[in-house]
Amino acid sequence: MVNFYDVIIIGGGQSGLACAYYLRRTGLKYLILDDQKTCGGAWLNTWDSLRLFSPADHSSLPGWLMPKSEEGFPPKGHVINYLCNYEKRYEFPIKRPVLVENLAKESGTFHLKTSAGGFSAKAVISATGTWKTPLIPKIKGIEIFKGKQLHSAHYRNPNGLKDKNVLIVGEGNSGAQILAEVSKVTNTGWAVLKDPDYLPDKVDGRELFNIATAKYKAEKEGKKFNPEKYNLGKIVMVPSVKEARKRGVLESRGSFKEFFEDGVIWGDGTKEKFDVVIWCTGFHYATNHLNNIVKPDSQGKIKTQGTKAKHTNGLWLVGYGGWTGYASATLIGVGRSARTTIKEISDFLEE
Ligand SMILES: Cc1cc2nc3c(=O)[nH]c(=O)nc-3n(C[C@H](O)[C@H](O)[C@H](O)COP(=O)(O)OP(=O)(O)OC[C@H]3O[C@@H](n4cnc5c(N)ncnc54)[C@H](O)[C@@H]3O)c2cc1C
Repeated sequence: MVNFYDVIIIGGGQSGLACAYYLRRTGLKYLILDDQKTCGGAWLNTWDSLRLFSPADHSSLPGWLMPKSEEGFPPKGHVINYLCNYEKRYEFPIKRPVLVENLAKESGTFHLKTSAGGFSAKAVISATGTWKTPLIPKIKGIEIFKGKQLHSAHYRNPNGLKDKNVLIVGEGNSGAQILAEVSKVTNTGWAVLKDPDYLPDKVDGRELFNIATAKYKAEKEGKKFNPEKYNLGKIVMVPSVKEARKRGVLESRGSFKEFFEDGVIWGDGTKEKFDVVIWCTGFHYATNHLNNIVKPDSQGKIKTQGTKAKHTNGLWLVGYGGWTGYASATLIGVGRSARTTIKEISDFLEE
């Protein structure tokens, strides 16, 4: 059968490629299906000025180090080039753009319904990331707000925002970085649920990865690990955020309770007008395509043991973050999950 594979990987971003790297060595017949027109995964869609938190040598997929970036912390274009060259280097079989709409399972075989027809496989890896499922909280009055709203998933640059009143919502890294950029040309407000937590200036993504590794090891050895001391959700002081601090714009205003037609009503009842709201409020997991064979929770999470789906034999989930492996949502961290996953799949297909 032409469209029958041992393994199909859904998603051709960094997680899908890391899995392909290990699959390629097994001799199994595999294929990657990705719904983007070109290589790069979520990096194609992030804002233009986004830079990695860590230098190139701490941002590599298995097998091939990311080339050094002349600009220190690599910009998004450098990451996209690396991912494109990575898939060429290893000649991975990839079909694009192919959207996997849903899956069915019959007599141990998965049948994938896609925008390019049907595909079947004995095992499936879902590596679809989070970018396609941005999260906007349900806030009272949101439907009557007349201004423009966009999520960080769709923000590219401050063009078109000059001199507008812009509200940035969210106290994470996206919120801080977009605030830093937008505040150069607009009047900004920053709404947060809790006070932003900043990492010390000298700590970057290298340190975060070392911490994640220490946590992994401690838990494996049954030792105690103090997560409070090493909160990975803190803001990394990248140069743009440091510069914004100098300008005095990293001022958060707490949370607002509802919208009115022209803006928001803050916790103390004050009304403030805004033309634009940028939601930097995170993502759910893009697992809708699995709804027919397994029930994801409200965030899109699926019960797993490591990366293996607990209740669906033959299905693995790679790259979504902590619940599928420590640091698995990062370039350097996903290799570890990918290697274990392919070992498990090889054993499963040999049974
Ligand atoms: C502010 C910010 C800073 C970051 N900094 C770093 C950093 O410094 N270092 C680092 O390593 N990471 C960083 N990241 C994380 C990184 O961007 C993502 O976690 C990463 O891209 C996830 O990779 P992935 O392959 O799992 O998913 P993606 O890159 O999202 O790839 C998934 C692919 O699957 C496709 N897809 C989805 N659904 C389907 C479907 N049904 N059918 C077919 N294809 C589908 C998608 O279109 C996409 O091409 C950062 C993220 C943010 C928001």
